[in-house]
Amino acid sequence: MPAYPGVRRLLGAVLFLLAALAPARATPADDAAAVRIGVLAFLGTEAAIGEWSPVLRRLQAALPGHTVSLVQLDHRGLRDAAAAGEIDFLITNPGHYVELEAELGASRILTLDPGPPRAPERSIGSAVIVKAGNGALRTLADLRGRRVAVVSTEGFGGFQTIWRELAAQGIDPQRDFAELKVVGLPMTGVFEAVARGEADAGIVRSCLLESRAEWRTAFTVLGARSEPDFPCATSTRLYPDWPLATLRHTPPALAKEVTLALLAMSAARDGMEWAVPADYQAVHEMFRELQIGPYAYLREPTLMVLAERYWRWIAAFALLLAAWILYTVRVEHLVHARTAELRAALAAREALELRIRANQEQADHLARLSVLGELSGTLAHELNQPLATIANYAHSLIRRSDNGRLTDDAVREASGEIAGQADRAAGILGRIRGFAKKRAAVRERVAPGALVVEAVALFRGMLANAPEVSVDDTLPADAIVEVDPLQIQQVLLNLLKNGYDAARGLPPERQRLTVRIDEGKGDSAGHARIAVRDHGSGLDATARERLFEPFFTTKADGLGLGLSICRTIAEAHRGRLTVDEDAGGEPGCEFILSLPLAPSASEPPECRSDHAADR
Ligand code: ADP
Repeated sequence: MPAYPGVRRLLGAVLFLLAALAPARATPADDAAAVRIGVLAFLGTEAAIGEWSPVLRRLQAALPGHTVSLVQLDHRGLRDAAAAGEIDFLITNPGHYVELEAELGASRILTLDPGPPRAPERSIGSAVIVKAGNGALRTLADLRGRRVAVVSTEGFGGFQTIWRELAAQGIDPQRDFAELKVVGLPMTGVFEAVARGEADAGIVRSCLLESRAEWRTAFTVLGARSEPDFPCATSTRLYPDWPLATLRHTPPALAKEVTLALLAMSAARDGMEWAVPADYQAVHEMFRELQIGPYAYLREPTLMVLAERYWRWIAAFALLLAAWILYTVRVEHLVHARTAELRAALAAREALELRIRANQEQADHLARLSVLGELSGTLAHELNQPLATIANYAHSLIRRSDNGRLTDDAVREASGEIAGQADRAAGILGRIRGFAKKRAAVRERVAPGALVVEAVALFRGMLANAPEVSVDDTLPADAIVEVDPLQIQQVLLNLLKNGYDAARGLPPERQRLTVRIDEGKGDSAGHARIAVRDHGSGLDATARERLFEPFFTTKADGLGLGLSICRTIAEAHRGRLTVDEDAGGEPGCEFILSLPLAPSASEPPECRSDHAADR
């Protein structure tokens, strides 16, 4: 083949045409000898073929063992082909190149050399064209509110470089233009749109205007800058020319061959020249300023930006949160304070109750002692009797012993009497001690009859000439009250003693006392009634009225507390203490203590054996 360069050139041309007619997307390189070069067709497919055919020819000549082809693609097509490995090299505009560099690792190996006076680094700019003689549009700032034609909003040499200059003046094309008219490729459409009056201005690549005489006369460039050594009118800063770049999969040896081949091109011979890769930093700066392309991430909202954008919502939310926290803290505080107050009140109440209980116990104790005190005169007499008997028997034993008449029988008889009398005295004292003991109130299940028997025994034990006390218990055997036994005995003792006092000095038949125990009827149903009846003096009008008043007494040595305490005790047991002074027309009166019967339980009532013995 090298022997027939003409044939080779013909073959290359056929291949080129096939490539030109082929669909935009090339097939993956299936042949190591195939060299595919993707080019951005910014002026349309035909223009691209015409523009880059020197490159194709040069490479076909320099790489005889390879099949070189050009693939013309738009922005997206070129990117996709590069990503899919369908092309080995790409030629594109500087902006697109920088994007592919960041995304796909495209690496420039050459930059198009525009030839003197332009340098490869300062080769590309954009021009805003307006109809010649349009006096209303002089500077870029005048574009506000105008209709502007562009090829696309992605084009580097067209739109993006202009956008940078506008942004520097605070103009946002998307926001501030009346219309951004996208006319698509080829770029000549921009001239046509402005010429037809469909747009007030158009954005094109610099030097395009100068390429046709009719355009030069029909249009002028807006905001033209003076850029030294740049032969065309430009509205923007200048950027490096188009690069030729390898991709990650491009074989380095092939890249080297292509570089050498293209560096050898000369403008004079080939109509096109390449230089070593230029510096594309200016393109990076443009993208960074506009926050597009590889720097689009800068547009992503940062915390600061979000805070600035939503500060009203954030402030409202913070206010709500603060209000809620304040409210919660206040409620907590109030709850704490109220709880503390409640606790203090409860503690104070408990302390008060404790004091009341202690006082009550003290009062109960004093009341019991007072009853005992009133009975103590006779108590001494009562104890004197067994003691005198004991002393008599003891003396008698001594005498008999002295006389030598002490027999075993006499000793046994005297000792038996002494022991009996001593037991009697001990029994009296034991009851009194138990009654006088200071203790807290209790509740015990007990038969009312047992309480009466115990109280009568105590009463009789304390009196020298105790009157006759008859007890008549008609309650069922399982009738139980739940009471403090000592307190109830205290009541009964008081009633017995009052009855005894009322009949003092009267004939013996008037001194007898009766205790009747039965179940209440009518109002008192469900209650055990204990009625203490005397036949004494009865009550006069004052006594009847003031009977239960504290400190009311008609006795010289009385305290007047007995009945009032008795009523309190009865009520504390949910019972009653009443008086009935007209019992069957007989003299005297009857005091009735009624106590609620406890629900019958399976266990037998508490009943001590000595009660039965005393009865
Ligand atoms: P005290 O016995 O210390 O006087 P009480 O409260 O027991 O105190 O009795 C108050 C008063 O009621 C007695 O002083 C007495 O006048 C009258 N009284 C109480 N019981 C009888 C009673 N069975 N018969 C007549 N009067 C009574």
